[in-house]
Amino acid sequence: MVQLNSTVYVHTSKLLNNVSAIKKRLNRNVQTMAVVKDNAYGHDLIQTAQRLEPVVDWFCVARVDEGVRLREADIKLPILVFESPSAETASLYADFKLTASLTDASILGLLKDGTEYQINLDTGMRRLGVLPNEVEDVVSKMAKFPGLTCTGIYTHFAKADDPGNPEVDTQLDLFKNLRTKFDSELMTHTANTGAIFHYPELDLQFDAVRPGVSLYGYGAGEEQITDLEPAIEWKSFLMQVKPISKGEAVSYGMRWVAPTDGYIAAVPTGYAAGVSRILSSKIEYSINQTRFEQAGTISMDYSMVFLKDEKFDPGTEITLLGGNAQSAKEWAEKGQTIPYEITTRIHPSIQRIFID
Ligand SMILES: *Cc1c(COP(=O)(O)O)cnc(C)c1O
Repeated sequence: MVQLNSTVYVHTSKLLNNVSAIKKRLNRNVQTMAVVKDNAYGHDLIQTAQRLEPVVDWFCVARVDEGVRLREADIKLPILVFESPSAETASLYADFKLTASLTDASILGLLKDGTEYQINLDTGMRRLGVLPNEVEDVVSKMAKFPGLTCTGIYTHFAKADDPGNPEVDTQLDLFKNLRTKFDSELMTHTANTGAIFHYPELDLQFDAVRPGVSLYGYGAGEEQITDLEPAIEWKSFLMQVKPISKGEAVSYGMRWVAPTDGYIAAVPTGYAAGVSRILSSKIEYSINQTRFEQAGTISMDYSMVFLKDEKFDPGTEITLLGGNAQSAKEWAEKGQTIPYEITTRIHPSIQRIFID
């Protein structure tokens, strides 16, 4: 059954190519922790993890429920959960063998004996993590919980998407400094996509890296990275095709006006499915190899496309995103956002089919 009138295809070969592009940048013996949070950036959590499991060393997820889903799908690799454990979720870490993030000393009291955890140090992101002035307190409290095992320590950069930014050095220096207060054996990691691709000269890979968006084929920030390939292709179909005359307006607000006589088609995919309304009349779809302009205000369940003088049959397949149409990077530029938001906004109920 066609769910929500569109389908997302994911090219496994491109995911694997992107893993190779990442690994090409790694020092010897650096592990890859694949970030598959938020439904693998919209690509599908389980299917993505199954394809990546043979070629990566760890998975990282945002929430503990995502870790539970991976375990229920029989994923065996270690899994790091980024969010802070709560009283409600604490027992899931031990039950499903998920590695917790220690973002605050009080979490030690929540975790069940047998749980493994890694310390998240906040070196400048000011999101989650232990602040520098709390480190002494965390170190002394850790010793009071012998039933818990600390396996690693990490931090996250706020400006690594921007090549050559001095804030990255500042965070790294602070991290290295705070790192000395902990056991030198702990697995250590800092690098997201930006740090891996834009900071080859800095000593920031340690034992592992945490790439996210690059797995799916995009760089972080403005700089193009030519050996990454977007893995996603989102397709829908023409539900109705009708003639339109030069000067006639289309869709809510009648903001788009036909420049010539031709054909207009209704594609049953709108902002409820994840084609953001801010992209109205700014993007192009493709049929076979040809691009056609998306015409007029994107509505909840439809976006219209101007077929010029080509009268395609209803039911004709049309590519909205990826493939011969525009990439999530191009949509992001037109929508003043980043590819991460484009792919995570594709409605999770739309079927994801992996092309192996
Ligand atoms: C999302 C996230 C990553 C991955 O970032 P990308 O820019 O997608 O590579 C790594 N580490 C943490 C803590 C994250 O939240």
